[in-house]
Parts: sequence; C-alpha cells; structure tokens
Amino acid sequence: MNRRARIDVAVVGGGVVGAACAIALAALDLDVALVEAIEPQRWAPDKADLRVYAFAPDNARLLESIGVWGDIRTTRAQPYRRMRVWDAAAAGELAFDADAFGRNELGWIIEHGLLVDRLWGALPEAGVHLNCPGQVDALEQHDQGVRLHLDDGTRLDARLVIAADGAESTVRKLAGFDVVTHDYAQRGLVAYVQTQHPHQDTAWQRFLPGGPLALLPCTEGRSSIVWTLPDEEAKRLLAVDDDTFNRELTRAFDARLGDMRVDSRRVAFPLRRLLAQRYLQDRVLIIGDAAHVVHPLAGQGVNLGLRDVAALRDSIRDAQTRGADFAASQRLLRWARTRKSENAAAAYAFDGLNRLFSNDGVAVSLLRGPLLGLAGKLPVLPHALWRRAAGL
Ligand SMILES: Cc1cc2nc3c(=O)[nH]c(=O)nc-3n(C[C@H](O)[C@H](O)[C@H](O)COP(=O)(O)OP(=O)(O)OC[C@H]3O[C@@H](n4cnc5c(N)ncnc54)[C@H](O)[C@@H]3O)c2cc1C
Repeated sequence: MNRRARIDVAVVGGGVVGAACAIALAALDLDVALVEAIEPQRWAPDKADLRVYAFAPDNARLLESIGVWGDIRTTRAQPYRRMRVWDAAAAGELAFDADAFGRNELGWIIEHGLLVDRLWGALPEAGVHLNCPGQVDALEQHDQGVRLHLDDGTRLDARLVIAADGAESTVRKLAGFDVVTHDYAQRGLVAYVQTQHPHQDTAWQRFLPGGPLALLPCTEGRSSIVWTLPDEEAKRLLAVDDDTFNRELTRAFDARLGDMRVDSRRVAFPLRRLLAQRYLQDRVLIIGDAAHVVHPLAGQGVNLGLRDVAALRDSIRDAQTRGADFAASQRLLRWARTRKSENAAAAYAFDGLNRLFSNDGVAVSLLRGPLLGLAGKLPVLPHALWRRAAGL
C-alpha cells in the first residue's frame, strides 16, 4: 500500500498526552492525524488498571475544554481532599487540606486506562484521522514540513509533527534529539490494597530510607500504593507471599490506617530521569514522556505532559488569532523554552526530595524533621507548593 495524505499536524503516540493533544488541536480547526502503534484495550470497571494518576485540577480543566472530563469524573474518579506527608526517621508532618484553598478537592485519583479509553472515544467526533496500528519508520524534514513514512507504506505530509510516543520515542531518535538520563536504581512497586481503617479521601506519603511509600485513595474504599524501593528490595517484595508482603507493607506505612492487605497483582517498574535537551527541531516537537520522564514521588508524570499540551494549544490559538503561521519556529521556540525549563525544574526538585529523604546519613536525617515541621507551620509554604503542583 502506498497512501499519501497532507495534513496540518501529525501526532505520533496515542497515550493520554498524545490523544489529548490531537483532540485539542483538532478543536482549533486544524487537520490532525494520530499515529498509534497499538490499539488500546477497552477499559472495563471490573478490570482495574494498576497505573493510576493523581490528576491535577488544571488538567481537569484541559480535559473539560475538550469535552471528556464530565464522563471520566462520573465514571470512576476518586477526589482526594487532603495530603499527609511524613518521614520515618523524623518528627513533623506536612499537611495540605482542600478547605484551606477554598476547594472541594485537591485533585482526583484516576486510572490510566479510563483516561485513554474516554480520549479515544472522543477522537472520531473531533475529526482526528487515525492511523492505528501504525508506526513511523522514517521521517524527512524540509522547509515547509515533515514527511512521515509509516510501516504500512502510508506517507503523511504534515506542517508540524508532535512526538508523544513515550519514553522510548522513535520519532525523538529519528529526528536526532539528545537526551540526558539518570538511573535511580529504584523501582516503583504498584498494587491495590485494602486498609483496616478508611482512607479518609487522603493521599498519604511516608518517606523511608529506601524511598517514599505513597497511598492514593480510590473508589469503593480501596487504595493504590506506589512504593519506591531499591532495585533488589523491589524484586524481593515482588517474590514474597501475600502475608509477608502485607506485614511488611503495614509496618512500612507505620500502620497509619491499621492492617493493610494486598488486593491485586504486584508490579514494579524501573525509575529513571530522562530530559531532552531541546523540545523543538525544525518542525518536529516532543511532548510528554518523549521529552521528560520524572521520579513518580510527586505523581507529576502525566500532569507535566498535559501541561505541555495546554501550553501548546494556547500558543497555536494565539497565532491563529493574530493570523500568523501556527507552525512558525519562533513562536514554537518560546513554547519549547518555557516548557523545557518548567519540566527540568520539576524533575530536579523531585530528585532533590528523593535524595534528601532516601538518605540514612545522620546530618541529612537531622535536617528532615525540622524541614517538614517548618513547611507544615508556614501556611504560605504549603499553599505555594500546592499551587505549583496543581498548576494553578
Ligand atoms: C506503572 C507506572 C506507574 C506510573 N504512575 C504514575 C503516577 O502515579 N503519576 C503520574 O503522573 N505518572 C505516573 N507514571 C508515568 C506516566 O504513566 C507517564 O508520565 C505518562 O503515561 C506519559 O504519557 P505519554 O502519553 O507521554 O506516554 P505513554 O503513556 O508512554 O504513551 C506513549 C504512546 O505512544 C505509543 N507509541 C510508542 N512508540 C510508538 C511508535 N513508534 N509509533 C506509534 N506509537 C508509538 C505507545 O503505544 C503509547 O500508546 C507511571 C508510569 C508507570 C509505567
């Protein structure tokens, strides 16, 4: 087959970030194609996805603006109204409450699979052309745009290509973007758990020497854990039987919600930082995990990717309002610089927290309690931290 199409924008990768981007840009009357390698499985309520996100309010507004938020929120999104952060080796606690910000909730806990499902459901109505299953084999850049060669022989001529094809991005590699990576030698162990006492609509995080243990409140009284552990420790905790795991988990969580019982498979994924050195090269730009992978301790991975989308949509809409070329490099360069510096600042802040708290050194341990205590006592600090995390 040797089909050929001319379009305004080709988005490669139809995860949460790529699918949201395709719909948001199609809503600006652009002709948009989405290329995705693997058709996502339909989400079903009885097949809970182990990958869940603490979803920030500014990104809820983005999804609302593209018409998918109402359905996601009512289908299965658990609001969380409080956050509690404390350290195993020091006194002091950091507390965030929605009331203090005049809000009903700080955010929502939502499954990855539900987000993808509802975004994909909205693609046809948005007028997005779908190439799935489809992979990019080669790309050629020229003055007016980019030609993508797909594995089924299709050629797409686009004025702009947006790579949202994840941490191993093929487009990023084909276009020659450089990245800097760092292996944390840690894994994120995820599972659903039942707790003896209710989760109180609260997101909990306890810092331990091996890494933080987060508990995110889910619907029907369940919770989801993301337990950051050194590689070998993660492997061991994947292999132990449920009773042993439950005992170790309850102890690691300081029995704050009583006994804990694992209620699903346990899966661990390797953790690393990846930062692209630029986000734009001629008419190819990169967003989401293709551009930045961060430590999960602040639950910001998907939130940062969706902020790339919101900022890009605003930049393109502004160009259209002024009658300017939306794909002009000067304008996109401004977007690229701003997003790169915000994402890098977030990535290094999470690094610093990970290093500060996953550290047994006496001097560092002595610092942690006062830091948490101080942060908790200055009302303006949690406020500022929260506003930053929520993108408000
Ligand atoms: C187990 C786990 C738990 C996580 N927990 C959290 C959390 O609590 N909070 C949080 O914010 N983040 C979390 N993350 C990170 C979060 O999942 C990512 O930041 C987010 O998925 C990035 O979205 P994305 O759309 O950029 O990339 P991806 O979700 O990786 O999507 C990329 C898409 O591109 C497609 N693709 C890949 N290559 C090609 C190609 N060559 N051609 C066409 N299509 C291609 C893939 O099939 C996929 O659909 C977690 C990650 C994992 C693995």
